[in-house]
Formats: sequence, structure tokens, C-alpha cells
Amino acid sequence: TAVSADLDMLSLEVQKFAENKQQQIQNLNLREGYRREFLGNISHELKTPLFTVQGYLLTLEDGAMNDKRIGKKYLKRANKGVDRLISIVKDLDLISKLESNDLNLNKQTFNIVELVQEVFDLLEIEAKKRNVTLLLDKHYEYPIKVIGDVERIEQVLTNLIVNSIKYGKINGATIVSLEIAENNKVLVKVKDNGEGIKEEHLDRLFERFYRVDQSRSRDQGGSGLGLSIVKHIIEAHNEQIFVKSKIERGSEFSFTLEKFKQV
Ligand code: ADP
Repeated sequence: TAVSADLDMLSLEVQKFAENKQQQIQNLNLREGYRREFLGNISHELKTPLFTVQGYLLTLEDGAMNDKRIGKKYLKRANKGVDRLISIVKDLDLISKLESNDLNLNKQTFNIVELVQEVFDLLEIEAKKRNVTLLLDKHYEYPIKVIGDVERIEQVLTNLIVNSIKYGKINGATIVSLEIAENNKVLVKVKDNGEGIKEEHLDRLFERFYRVDQSRSRDQGGSGLGLSIVKHIIEAHNEQIFVKSKIERGSEFSFTLEKFKQV
């Protein structure tokens, strides 16, 4: 019986080993699948603006250039396509750094109220295009000090606020609020009163290239990577990101940051 118990144990271990290997192979296949899908997505994303640019250049070559006004218009559109290409490549570069953990966070203490104001100033022109007002929910008399990589958090705020402008209402408003939350956290909320997002999309929103409305996102010049970059940065900080949305009512994206403890 001692031998049979040993055999049982051995067979259990062999089984565990086999299961483990199988899981590893499955994970590898899954990763390979993701990789292939990602590469497919990238070429698709690049193809669209590249063909657009090529189309305008060919038309110019074919004679559109002879009419100065039309020539200028087409050059402008070609340039817009190049801008899109540049923004996609920049976002891809950042994503690849974030995913390979190549991005060393440079954590420091900063005033989040001031950073929000700075991002508002930088996005003023963007907001004007849709006549969106960028607002803090109230006047913050005191600085709210948080700990994080200020450049990366600026990117998070920028991506969320740009989205709120793009998908918010024309003539609408984006409201940012800052709440002191439990566990020494600050909750940053970015709210719009725009088109909102159907519940069924919320789970997948942070995936690379996931869009609720493909053509709408492209028209707005989106790379489809904004929210996945946001999620990566927040997770690299060991913080959390949330989304709430109601169709036709608007969306609210929020994330936590570590509050600086004054001693
Ligand atoms: P994109 O470049 O397409 O804007 P993102 O990753 O930033 O890519 O966002 C993914 C998708 O999530 C968008 O295409 C859009 O459908 C949806 N989305 C993001 N933010 C908002 C928002 N504030 N309101 C409504 N939909 C949004």
C-alpha cells in the first residue's frame, strides 16, 4: 500500500505537470494570437490614412495642382492624413513602452489642481472647435498634492479631456472634479454631457483599438489607443480607473491617485 500511495502521488504530480504545461502552451498560443491580431490592427489603422494621403497626392499630380485653390485644399487634407499617421505612430510607441514595462515612472509630488488647469489651457483651442467649456467643478482654494509621474498623469488627463471634447456635446461642457477619497486617495473625475456609451461596450472600452463607432472615431482623428494608454499608465501607478456612462446623458471617467501625506 505504501508503494501504491507513492504511485498515486506520482501520478498526481505527473497530471499536475501535464496540466501546467498545457496551460503554458495555451497562454503562449493566446499571446501569439493577441500579437497577430495587434499587428493586423496596426497595419489596418495605418493603411486608411496612408491611402487617403496617397489619393490626394495622386489627384494633385493628375492636375488638381493647376488650380491653386483646389491644390491648396488637397494639400491641406493630405497633411491632415500625415498628422493622423504621426499621432498613431506616437501612440503605438508609447503603448509598446508601457507594455514592455520600459517606462520608468518618475514619481514626484505635485498639485493636481494646477495640472488640470494647465491641461485645460493646452486644450483650449481643441475645445473651442466644438465650443466646449472646460471647467473645474468649484474653486479649489488650496493645492491638492498627489504623488505620481506628472508627465504621465498629464497624458491621462489630456486623453480623457480630449475624448470628452470629441464625444461630448457641441456647445457642451467638460467638468473635472477632485475628491479626497478613502485610503489616502484623491479621485479625479472627468465628466461630459455628450452622447454616452452603451453598457455593453463599457467592459471593452480600454482595449487597444476598441471603438464604439469606428467611423466616428476616425473622423475625430482618434487612434483608438487613447484609453488603453490611460489604463496602462494608471495601472503602472497601482491605481484604479472607472467609467460610468448613460446613453444620451454623458460619461464620467475617474481615476485614483495617491494623496501626499503632509507630516
Ligand atoms: P479614440 O481614438 O477612438 O477616441 P480611445 O481609446 O480614446 O480611442 O476611446 C475608445 C472609444 O471609446 C472611442 O472610439 C469612443 O467610441 C469611446 N469613448 C471614449 N471616451 C468617450 C466619451 N467621453 N464619451 C463617449 N464615448 C467615448
